[in-house]
Amino acid sequence: MSEGPLDRLAAQARQKHVVVVGGGVAGLVAAWECAKVGVRVTVLEQDPRVGGVVRSAEIDGLVLDVGAESYATRGGTVRSLVDELGLSDAVTTPRPAGAWVAGLPGGAAAPLPRGGVLGIPDNPWAPEVRRIIGWRGAWRAYLDRLRPPLTIGHQQSLGALVRSRMGARVLDRLVAPVTSGVYSARPDDIDVDLAAPGLNAALTRTGSLSGAVAELRGGRTAAPGSAVEGLRGGMSTLVDALAERVRELGGEIRTGARVTGLQATGEAWDVHVADGEAAGEQPDAAAGGASPMRADAVIVAVPERAARELLSPVAPLLDREAAPAPVVEVVTLVVDSAALDAAPRGSGVLTVPGTGPAKALTHSTAKWEWVAAAAGGDRHVLRVSFGAQGEEPATAALDDDAAASLALAEAARMLGVELGAASLRGAQRERYAQAQPAATIGRAATTAAARGAVRAVAGLGATGAWLSGTGLAQVVPDARAEAERVRSALLWRETASGA
Ligand SMILES: Cc1cc2nc3c(=O)[nH]c(=O)nc-3n(C[C@H](O)[C@H](O)[C@H](O)COP(=O)(O)OP(=O)(O)OC[C@H]3O[C@@H](n4cnc5c(N)ncnc54)[C@H](O)[C@@H]3O)c2cc1C
Repeated sequence: MSEGPLDRLAAQARQKHVVVVGGGVAGLVAAWECAKVGVRVTVLEQDPRVGGVVRSAEIDGLVLDVGAESYATRGGTVRSLVDELGLSDAVTTPRPAGAWVAGLPGGAAAPLPRGGVLGIPDNPWAPEVRRIIGWRGAWRAYLDRLRPPLTIGHQQSLGALVRSRMGARVLDRLVAPVTSGVYSARPDDIDVDLAAPGLNAALTRTGSLSGAVAELRGGRTAAPGSAVEGLRGGMSTLVDALAERVRELGGEIRTGARVTGLQATGEAWDVHVADGEAAGEQPDAAAGGASPMRADAVIVAVPERAARELLSPVAPLLDREAAPAPVVEVVTLVVDSAALDAAPRGSGVLTVPGTGPAKALTHSTAKWEWVAAAAGGDRHVLRVSFGAQGEEPATAALDDDAAASLALAEAARMLGVELGAASLRGAQRERYAQAQPAATIGRAATTAAARGAVRAVAGLGATGAWLSGTGLAQVVPDARAEAERVRSALLWRETASGA
């Protein structure tokens, strides 16, 4: 029986080797996409475990997410990955408790009004909005209704738009806590058209920013894009399932393997690995005796600084300079407190930037049913985050015990309850460099230039949060698309030349 074109393609795929650098979600998704068509895949991850920012830890006997804890349902892309991985039964939604904002005058806290977009209210007179911005703030915000849109014109910056139309109180007390807590970014650096598509156009149509917010929300109770889902057992189950699928298809995942350099060798690549264990191939003199791994294509899925260092020597059009990445520290606490059973601040707290050392808090046992069930009794799980753009985390210089004490004190302040040292059962601190949100002003042009520079080089791909924007709903579809591009080019190049 003669071989068809698809048999030829499959046979060629088996002879191709793709190396994926970085075993975060982007790298694992890209690896799986390549392995699905029969290509031989190796993932090289520098840490002792895969998952990157999606990571878990055991604290007081509970296995908890200490990095990403959910995904946005927007676009349905993460959910379809979850379904494809057979994890649909583990999908869960947060309890509808809502978040609070803390750091209001006099140390007060109040529920974050629900009728907004990125914290911008649709009605400045609503009691829950007035509670936060006061009468003076409400009058100032109301001027937005009286001022024609053309006196301000199209605004690119979220901060400039809100300040000019609704005043500083709406900006500082409602919008900044949201952008700082969600994006680690200041409102002035956020591009309105990317963060809230359609808002500027609705402003022109309706004549006011609050009218535009009301139109955009169209009667929904949750802001567009704010809906999230989680997985019972934690987001690491997604990472475990991905790694398992890659291995099932014959892919190899090596941990403790830091890639130090890439070298083009004609039609192929040499991938240099720090520990020299990555290949059973000939030692490479140029790399001081380390053995490079030979690959037909390389997909780089590491954070921006590392990605630019690896890629710029082989992609001449790529700038080596990386954008500054805000450093965030998350301290996860397990505490005993009957006072927290009533979820005094709903699912968690955002703060007015600059009003305290901590940036935000998630009350995980109030937010997630599965965490509450696992904790049981009066045990509660709290995640306290520190650090924002241009601001070192207040915990940065502290040892783990001091960081846990500060997080406990901040949790008590934000939740409005007493949490003495004796209530602390366990703590875990993690440090992250957060990728810039895709909605940062100027970011789209930077990432388009980087993608162009990578695509100009045959057999090279790049993906990850620095290119797609932070968040799994951005990372997953981008990794799929980039793997698809690289694998098609690889197979097409072969079939075309072999035909
Ligand atoms: C604290 C925090 C909480 C978050 N919460 C959420 C959330 O709830 N929902 C959500 O959707 N998103 C969340 N995000 C964002 C989301 O987690 C990330 O956007 C996403 O996980 C990034 O995946 P990635 O694969 O691009 O990068 P990473 O997860 O950073 O993976 C990159 C991997 O590359 C490895 N690496 C780096 N250099 C090398 C090298 N030279 N050689 C080999 N390996 C290397 C790293 O060790 C790492 O494992 C959160 C982010 C942070 C920081």
